[in-house]
Amino acid sequence: MIVGILKEIKTAENRVCMTPAGVEMMNHHDHTVLVEKDAGLNSGFGDADYAEHGAVIVATPQEIYQRAEMVMHVKEPLPSEYDLIRQDQIVFTYLHLAAAEELTHKLVKSGSICIAYETIQKVDGSLPLLTPMSEVAGRMATQQGAKYLEMAQGGLGVLLGGVPGVDPATVVVIGGGVVGMNAAKMACGLGAKVYIVDMNLDRLRYLSDVMPSNCIPLMSSPATLRKLVKEADVVIGAVLVAGAKTPKLITREMLKTMKKGAVMVDVAIDQGGCFETSKPTTHTSPTYTVEGVVHYCVANMPGAVAKTSTLALTNATLPYALQIADKGWKRAIQENNEIKLGANVVKGKVTYKAVAEAFGLEY
Ligand code: NAD
Repeated sequence: MIVGILKEIKTAENRVCMTPAGVEMMNHHDHTVLVEKDAGLNSGFGDADYAEHGAVIVATPQEIYQRAEMVMHVKEPLPSEYDLIRQDQIVFTYLHLAAAEELTHKLVKSGSICIAYETIQKVDGSLPLLTPMSEVAGRMATQQGAKYLEMAQGGLGVLLGGVPGVDPATVVVIGGGVVGMNAAKMACGLGAKVYIVDMNLDRLRYLSDVMPSNCIPLMSSPATLRKLVKEADVVIGAVLVAGAKTPKLITREMLKTMKKGAVMVDVAIDQGGCFETSKPTTHTSPTYTVEGVVHYCVANMPGAVAKTSTLALTNATLPYALQIADKGWKRAIQENNEIKLGANVVKGKVTYKAVAEAFGLEY
């Protein structure tokens, strides 16, 4: 198969969807890989690197769309690409169609086969192509918390791990899923006193088994959160309620009881955020202060560490991309239910229920 690797064009998106090592693997499976010029530059991979690993460097996205049987991206196609997508072409990328009506209609009209990273799902319900980005965001959340605790950043001037003879900071992580567990791991490693709260008792049991002794898993309730935020130096929001808006678990009233200069990192901001006072921010202006509490609410945290994120993402996407290229989309979908669940639009029809329902389309 001819596979096309497109350069990301969305603002501040520095990742690339395949590394030179991935290109080499594709070649081993007898596939040809076209890579758009400078596609990997911001992730640390130059064109020469790709060419050495067997890629054909192509000057324009037009040529990639024209020649490739499967095109890959990190983010969804943007309006400048809509008319380039060809009938019967496979589009494999993050799509998030339930929140993108125009794109959904364009993809339906194109007659292409659109497989979304984010809806590929394993039998246990986990989402293998979202997990790596949650791992990155979770680990980064603690780093950001530590940074914004510094006085020059508006924080209260506390070192996360303390020093011998001085108390460490208290970190409260709300939500003990992938983001929360990774955030807590980092905070524990730095020596902070960490509370992790979740609604799911089985998850709390698991956390209690695997986390170090400076991590205390607790059942989530408004009363527990009211108590914990008063003590907290850093609060990390990592809640997800599948298919629903994120609940606002920290209210403005609760914020008033917190230490001035404490830091709140709302990782769940991409789903609306779990603090009442959260609003999305960007990497160029990541924080603002409410009631003396520093808020960090960047919606695409992994973008700031593009090299790590690219490797984490491509480790997860490559095995699926290889299967689709080896078998063709029809057999890949028939033989692998995970990929079948990834198919959102197939040759003019929406094939993912939530997307069809979002826009009243036939399913
Ligand atoms: P996950 O499903 O693995 O974990 C969510 C956890 O929240 C679950 O364990 C669930 O039991 C828990 N939860 C639900 N309701 C709760 C409540 N009331 N109190 C406490 N816990 C509760 O999800 P995840 O992969 O960890 O993602 C968490 C959030 O981070 C999502 O909103 C995701 O979109 C977001 N995210 C943001 C970025 C970013 O750049 N900002 C990057 C990756 C993920």
